[in-house]
Amino acid sequence: MSRTSPHSRSRALRLPAILLAFVLLVGAAAAAIVGVRGLERANGSLEHSYLVINLLIASEAALHEAESKARGYRLTGRESFRPEYGDAVARAGQYSRRLIELTADNPSQQALARTFDADMQRHLSTMEILLDPVQMAALPDDERQRRISDNVRRATAMSALRQQLMDEEARLLAERQVTSQQRATLLVVFIVLAFVVALGLLIFMLWSLSRENRRSRRLERDARNAMRDLHALSEQRHTQSEYAGMLQSCQSREEIVALTTRAVVELVPGASGRCYLARPSQNFLESAGTFGEHPISHEDTVTQDDCWALRRGQPHYLRGRSGGLRCAHIDRDVPLDGVSTLCVPLIAQGQSLGMLHVSAASDPSGSDNDASILASLSEQMALALANLQLRETLRTQSLRDPLTSLFNRRYLEVSLARELQRCERRQLPLSLMMLDVDHFKRFNDTHGHAAGDAVLSQVGRLIQAGVRTEDIACRYGGEEFTVVLPELDAANARLRAEQIRRAVEISSVQHMGQTLGPVTLSIGIATFPANGTTPELLLQVADATLYRAKAEGRNRVLHASQTD
Ligand code: GH3
Ligand code: MG
Ligand code: MG
Repeated sequence: MSRTSPHSRSRALRLPAILLAFVLLVGAAAAAIVGVRGLERANGSLEHSYLVINLLIASEAALHEAESKARGYRLTGRESFRPEYGDAVARAGQYSRRLIELTADNPSQQALARTFDADMQRHLSTMEILLDPVQMAALPDDERQRRISDNVRRATAMSALRQQLMDEEARLLAERQVTSQQRATLLVVFIVLAFVVALGLLIFMLWSLSRENRRSRRLERDARNAMRDLHALSEQRHTQSEYAGMLQSCQSREEIVALTTRAVVELVPGASGRCYLARPSQNFLESAGTFGEHPISHEDTVTQDDCWALRRGQPHYLRGRSGGLRCAHIDRDVPLDGVSTLCVPLIAQGQSLGMLHVSAASDPSGSDNDASILASLSEQMALALANLQLRETLRTQSLRDPLTSLFNRRYLEVSLARELQRCERRQLPLSLMMLDVDHFKRFNDTHGHAAGDAVLSQVGRLIQAGVRTEDIACRYGGEEFTVVLPELDAANARLRAEQIRRAVEISSVQHMGQTLGPVTLSIGIATFPANGTTPELLLQVADATLYRAKAEGRNRVLHASQTD
């Protein structure tokens, strides 16, 4: 089931919120316009009611004024009352007719207004008669009395009618006021609500946008960090693969150590340390190089007891604490607070080859990335050391004879050709000795093969001891030996051969607590260029000379140039 995140929910709500806020604001504006119009209309109605009421009051006042002027005229007979009376009558009649027009919107009021107007017109005409002394005198007494009392009654009825009209108009006025007030209140409530809701929606939108903005900034920052990490990682990979590639081409332990320490410094910023290597036939490790600015492992040699990693055969990691198990090869005076130290044993093919010690400021993030990089480097370094060792062993085995440790026949062939070329180029002599143990078969048969081996080993040592370092001593096969003597002429070669022969003759061989002996050598010598100019020819001549020496009685040195 898919679950929508709060971010995508608020993003989805944003458009409806904008639309709703827009609709509310437009609605509020429309309501305000409609409301103002309505208020205008309501005001018109109120004004109308006030007009009707005022007209009623004015008609009453005009009527009273007409009656008062009529009474004045009757009592005083002054002519000036007549025009004033006429003016008041005209206004009273005009007002009551105007009342009919004004109440056109309300039929029941208009009906009352018509009655009122009719009464008014009648009342005014009766008043006209009552005012005229000639007409009044012509009327019989009872008729005059009836008209007067009619007029009084009508005035009362008109007053009641006016009051009814006024009450109705007052009621309408009150009703219109209430309606208008209700509308105004409703309008205000609606507009305020619309604004509050629209404001709320706008605030929600702003909040949502600012949250979105914060989120996108955070995502951007994360992406930048990820890119940086990726870049660092790819640089690390590049350094590591370059290291692995170059490691294959290292020809010595020193090169391996230099390459590894450089890679450590590159991959672990601020790292310092020391690399220790095991020497064959020694039960301690020797310092093979330091790196970084503050190596804290101060011992030049380390035994297994000095290092927890060597004891346990696995990396020993101390992260930024001084209370951990500190190895004895680390300087006691150095405080380890905030410093991480790592000792990694260099083990390959079950063989302990050394130890890499690294220290650096602790990573505040607590990441073990550096430790795993160092473990990987150490593993590759150990493999490279083991490979180098293997290569050296193989090379030694392929060049050396295992019994005597002298060079083998294959090496002789290669080096004889090379040395011969060199001497030829520089026009120097080269001598070749061929040596053979006399009656070795007999010796073997008498003392056994193992004793024979001991003799061969001893003879090999004496030959090696009797030549210069630049000479190449080889075991040619069986009990035959060859020595290449670059730059040595015939005379000096004979002297050297004689020394060797003598050394063997006077030596004795110890085997299984027995002294074996005596052993003698026959030696044949050929010298370049006199006795041959190619390796094959020189070997042939030297061999032939050796057999001449055998034939002449053994235990002797013979040069090819010697003819007797
Ligand atoms: P000569 O004085 O004429 O050289 O007599 P020789 O007995 O030394 O010569 P021969 O060639 O007859 O015998 C060589 C013997 O060397 C035969 C072989 O058993 C022995 N031999 C060859 N290689 C080895 C070896 O590696 N160890 C031992 N113990 N004997 C070997
Ligand atoms: Mg032989
Ligand atoms: Mg022999």
